[in-house]
Amino acid sequence: MEKKQYKRILLKLSGEALMGDTQFGIDPDTVARMAGEVKAAQDTGLQICLVIGGGNIFRGMAGAAKGMDRAQADYMGMLATVMNALAMQNALEQLGVATRVQSAIQMDAVCEPVIRRRAERHLEKGRVVIFAAGVGAPYFTTDSGAALRAAEMRCDALFKGTSVDGVYNADPKQDPNAVRYDELSFSRVLTDNLKVMDASAVALCRDNDIPIVVFTIREQGNLAKILRGEGVSTTVCN
Ligand code: UDP
Repeated sequence: MEKKQYKRILLKLSGEALMGDTQFGIDPDTVARMAGEVKAAQDTGLQICLVIGGGNIFRGMAGAAKGMDRAQADYMGMLATVMNALAMQNALEQLGVATRVQSAIQMDAVCEPVIRRRAERHLEKGRVVIFAAGVGAPYFTTDSGAALRAAEMRCDALFKGTSVDGVYNADPKQDPNAVRYDELSFSRVLTDNLKVMDASAVALCRDNDIPIVVFTIREQGNLAKILRGEGVSTTVCN
């Protein structure tokens, strides 16, 4: 992969990335490791916006499947992302990385509201900004929140850290012959319904020309490696 010069990126981690080998919730050792990945990336001089999902705690769809009102369940999911954001803030600060959490649902006692210009200032001062509560509305996901913040913060790329090392033509966990793409177009992702991010998040990145880099966060040191243009990943771009 050709080395790109990134100045500011958005890193999206699913809530499950904080679970480690557990089945639910927040595993402090895993959060500490993830924070180490972020610190290593930041130590290269990069400005980092972070979005963490909430699926390790609660997903609106799961609540709705059990009979809950979907919007109500989604608000619970958004609150889960705030808990994850606070856990990551704690872990980053233990490593000496200054951070601010900005939530799309106002919660003055625990974090700042999302204010773009203030977030800009934090980044300029070398702070990691963790955006919580997605877009702040039900019927969305944190993928859309990540795409939205990447666009408004003018990030050079959106890095999606997952448990798989890229995008495949079939599920590599099910099909041993699945082939990984090095590069893909946004339109191919949308027409073939490839599982990269939600369609709304992909469309937002396409319209704002923000490449999505899909890589595995499970391998220690991988984020820094991918940022150096090494390692395995799939880039989705126009
Ligand atoms: N959510 C929402 N609006 C948003 C972001 C998140 O309603 O803008 C809710 C939704 O219920 C979602 C949950 O929060 O299922 C947790 O987010 P997500 O599923 O994206 O987390 P991830 O899969 O990345 O862990």
